[in-house]
Formats: sequence, structure tokens, C-alpha cells
Amino acid sequence: MRYIEPHGHMVSRTTDDYIDMATAGCVAVSEPAFWAGFDRSSVDGFYDYFCQLTEHEPKRAAKFGLQHFTWLCINPKESEDVKLAEDVIAIIPEFLKRPSVLGIGEIGLNKNSRNEMRVLEKHVDLAAAHDQLILVHTPHLEDKLKGTRLIMDVLKGDKRIRPERVIIDHVEEHTVKHVLDRGFWAGMTLYPESKCTPARAIDIIETYGNERIWMNSACDWGVSVPLAVPRTGLEMKKRGHTADAIDKMIYRNPVQFMSQSPKFRIS
Ligand SMILES: [Zn+2]
Repeated sequence: MRYIEPHGHMVSRTTDDYIDMATAGCVAVSEPAFWAGFDRSSVDGFYDYFCQLTEHEPKRAAKFGLQHFTWLCINPKESEDVKLAEDVIAIIPEFLKRPSVLGIGEIGLNKNSRNEMRVLEKHVDLAAAHDQLILVHTPHLEDKLKGTRLIMDVLKGDKRIRPERVIIDHVEEHTVKHVLDRGFWAGMTLYPESKCTPARAIDIIETYGNERIWMNSACDWGVSVPLAVPRTGLEMKKRGHTADAIDKMIYRNPVQFMSQSPKFRIS
């Protein structure tokens, strides 16, 4: 089995995780910028984080035979301070030139607040101005459908944005069809309890098909499983999916989406 981890916060993971992922067939990981688990106090904190994502982490991943790609933004959880968000967005363009940066992400909404909306619009404008792919985080639980709709309205409201160049992540049963019907890609996050379990993710593929959809572990500093993608591949096999169908879901689909960036090349 070969696979891509399209959403892993590897700066929070250990070298054992890299070894396990490489052993399980992972060839590349893509790491969206994320909240650190605490609020960074200044734009300098983000500058250092973007250096870590674009300089240090690719080297660490390479030691275990994995390619490492990244996405940049200020996370919606830190978007209440609009001035800080503007300062962070202002330093992103210089990093977009770096060879492993695929786009802007993970942007979106957390509490669906007015300030989060403003910062989301600024990120969408940044992505459009620099012709970048977009990776979107959608809010949790009861706010998910409302937040997903608000995000899609912002994206559809900017005529420069092509939906096939946007992946909307953390979809669940009640949001996936809305996302696919509007032409976006959908990401399913495999968490042990919240978001999608492997069984629910496979149910979703069996219901809505396997086009424009990928799976990720979204492993970070919290409770998460770095091997969730290959384990779900095994679960697909148990449920009678062919080796080709599994390869499409966990390898070819993420390659297809990310290859829209000229910087994404599997070597
Ligand atoms: Zn994430």
C-alpha cells in the first residue's frame, strides 16, 4: 500500500510517527499551518513557525524518506485579533515563493464570528492574488453545516476562485454533499471519536462516490492517530474495496488535487 498524508501537523509529532508512517507506505505529507494549542503573542511567532514549516520540517521528514509540503495562514482560532491577522497575512507572500508551499491553509471558521469572517475574506483574497490552492478547515459539531455554508459563500463570492482548486476539510455526512455539489473537493478527517471514524468515512465514499474526496489523519498535538489513513485503507479492503479503489482514495486523489500546484511533484 502506498499513500499520502494530506493533512498532518508533523511539527507536533515524534520521529517514531515518521518511521511508522514511512513503514506503512506513506510517501509524502502535507502540513497546513495550524493553531499551536495556545495563542502566539506576535507576528514574530508566526514568522518562526513559517520558517519551521518551510525549512526545518521538510528536512526532518526527508530523514525518514518522506516528502513534506506545507500551507500557510493564521488559523481561525487566532483570527479574533484582526490587526495581528493582518500583520501575519502581510508576511505570507515572501514565504509563498518557497519550493514546498502549496497554498493557503488551513483557513476557515471556528466559531463563525464576524472577525473570523473578515480574516477568512483576507485569506481568500491573498490566495486569489497569488494564484494559490486553498485548504479549508470547517468548524466542529453543531456549527459545522452553518460554517461550511458561510465559507462556501465567501469562496463563491470571489470570482477569481475556482472551486476545483479548493479542498474543504473535516466534512461529515451532513456536509459532504453540499461541498461536492458546489464543485469543491472534500476532505474527511479520521479521528478516533469526533469527525469521521474510518467506518463512517467508508460509508460516505460508498454513498457519495470516490471523486474529488480524500482522507487524512489531521494528526496534531491532541488525541489523533497518525496511521489513520492506512488503517482506513485496510478497513476498505475488509469491506471488499479493490486494491485499485484503495489506491485511488489514499494516493491518487490527493496527488490529483495537489498536482494543481506546480510545486507538488512526487520524486
Ligand atoms: Zn488541521
